[in-house]
Amino acid sequence: METFSDNIIFVDTEFSDLNPYKGEILSIGLVKLSGEELYLELEYGGEVSDWVKENITPTLTQPKVTREEAKKRIRDFVGGGKPYMVSYVNQYDTIYLYKLFAGEEHPFFWLPIDFASMLFAAGRDPESYSIEDKNNFFKEIGIDASKYHIHNALDDAKLLREVYLKTASK
Ligand SMILES: [Mg+2]
Repeated sequence: METFSDNIIFVDTEFSDLNPYKGEILSIGLVKLSGEELYLELEYGGEVSDWVKENITPTLTQPKVTREEAKKRIRDFVGGGKPYMVSYVNQYDTIYLYKLFAGEEHPFFWLPIDFASMLFAAGRDPESYSIEDKNNFFKEIGIDASKYHIHNALDDAKLLREVYLKTASK
């Protein structure tokens, strides 16, 4: 597939709940096309869903940063060029990132890009991206997804970059 712009950053987040009224961002991974990366785990003292308690909380082992510090580090990393944020199934990443920057200028271009929609437009099942999906196309495009820790925000963003590089070109 041919993409519109190279001004993109791959983003993945983990968050406390699938209910967008309750959920908050817990961690974020950002990876540029160049491979330059940023990973942050955020301070959070609120409730988490049972699934998150079991699957995400134990994996958040890095020193935590405040929300203010996270915003500063994300802004510094993203820069002033208003890149598109590209995520796989982007609604939660988008919502929780927008909640983090609520009331302030958003560091990314206002229109977030969903890689699942790109797959759909390219004639692929948008669910076939998942490592857990038996019909996933990673082997077909020569990607060993087993080296990535699923649900680690940085690994999820790095995997997305690798898949994007193999499937999308400008
Ligand atoms: Mg993830």
